Amino acid sequence: MKALVYHGPGLRSWEEKPDPTIQEPTDAVVRIDSATICGTDLHILKGDVPEVQPGTILGHEAVGTVVETGAAVTTLEPGDRVLVSCITSCGRCAFCKEGHYGLCTGGGGWIFGHLIDGLQAEYARVPFVDTSVYKVPDELTDEQVLFLADILPTAYEVGVLNGGVGPGDTIAIVGAGPIGLATVLTAKLYTPGKIVAIDLADTRLEKARELGADVTINNGEEDAVERMMELTGGLGADVAVEAVGVPATFELCAELVRPGGRIANVGVHGHPATLHLEKLWIRDVTITTGLVDTITTPRLLKLIAEGRLDATPFATHRFPLDETMAAYDTFAAAAETDALKVVLEGAPAEESRGPKEVALVGSDA
Ligand SMILES: [Zn+2]
Ligand SMILES: [Zn+2]
Repeated sequence: MKALVYHGPGLRSWEEKPDPTIQEPTDAVVRIDSATICGTDLHILKGDVPEVQPGTILGHEAVGTVVETGAAVTTLEPGDRVLVSCITSCGRCAFCKEGHYGLCTGGGGWIFGHLIDGLQAEYARVPFVDTSVYKVPDELTDEQVLFLADILPTAYEVGVLNGGVGPGDTIAIVGAGPIGLATVLTAKLYTPGKIVAIDLADTRLEKARELGADVTINNGEEDAVERMMELTGGLGADVAVEAVGVPATFELCAELVRPGGRIANVGVHGHPATLHLEKLWIRDVTITTGLVDTITTPRLLKLIAEGRLDATPFATHRFPLDETMAAYDTFAAAAETDALKVVLEGAPAEESRGPKEVALVGSDA
C-alpha cells in the first residue's frame, strides 16, 4: 500500500509500505476512505514531537471501512464504516474507566501517527478497535463526520467544557484556525451571550463570523484587551479559550478574562509561557489544560445526525489520497491558500477492492 511517511524534521514522502496486518486479537485493519491533515502533523514535521520515529506513517484523523478483524473483536465486522479518532482507548486502565481516554496507560491515548503508524495511508491497523472507533450512520457522509476525529471533540471538551461555557457568557476565543473555529461552533450549543473571536487574519475572522462569532477583533489592528473591556463593562470575558499554542496568546487570555473567570488552554505549546501570578493571584481565575479524551464523540455524532451541528464548512480543499504530498503543501501554506482542513479522499470502494476480497488480502499480507 501507499502511505505518507515521516523521515525526520522537514522530511516526508508518499511511498510504498507493507500492508498492515492484525497483530493483536483486539485489532482491526481499516481501509482509509477519507483522512485529513492536522496542525499537529506540521508540528511533528518541524521536529516539535521528537518521540515520533522516522519511518512512522503520519495521520490521526480518518473515516474508513473495516476489512479484517482480530479474533477478540466482537462489535465490528468487515464492511462496517467507522470513524477512527485521534484517541485510542484500551477500555481497561484506570484512566479509561474514568473516561480519560487521552491519558490511557494501557497502550491507547494519542498513538496514531505518533507512537504507531497513522491513518494517512491506504490501510491502517487500528488497535483496541471495539473501544476506540465509532460506527458511522449510513445516512451520514464521510465529510460530515471526519472532523469528529479531532478538532470538534478537542474544541468542545478542552475549550468549551473545560472552560465551563454557560448561557449568557462572553467567550473570548484567541485564534480562529480550525480549533478556534470549532470552539465557536460548539460554544453555540450553550447559548452564550457573546462569542468574540480574535485573530490576525481577516479571512479567518470572516469564517468565524460565518460560523457564529458575534464580534471579531483583528489584534494586529486594534487592542484586543481594550475592546474586550468595552464589550464587558470593564470586566473581561467570562471564558477565554487559547486556540493557538504560543506564549503571547496564552498571556493575552490571562488579560482578557474577568475576575473569577476561566482560561481554557487548547493550543499545543512548544515553549514556556509566562504566568503573571503577580496580577492573577487575587483574581480567582481558573486555568485548565488538556488533551482531548473524545468521550463526547458519540454526543457530537448525534448532534450531526440530528442536523444540529454542521462541521462540513471546515473542508476547504479536497485531494485524492495519492496526492497527499500536495495536500500538505496547501495545508502548510494556509496563510496564502486559506485552507482550514484538507480532505484526503481514498479511491471509491467500488473502484478498489470490495470488503470481502480485501479481508483476504489483509490476512495474507
Ligand atoms: Zn489532529
Ligand atoms: Zn486505557
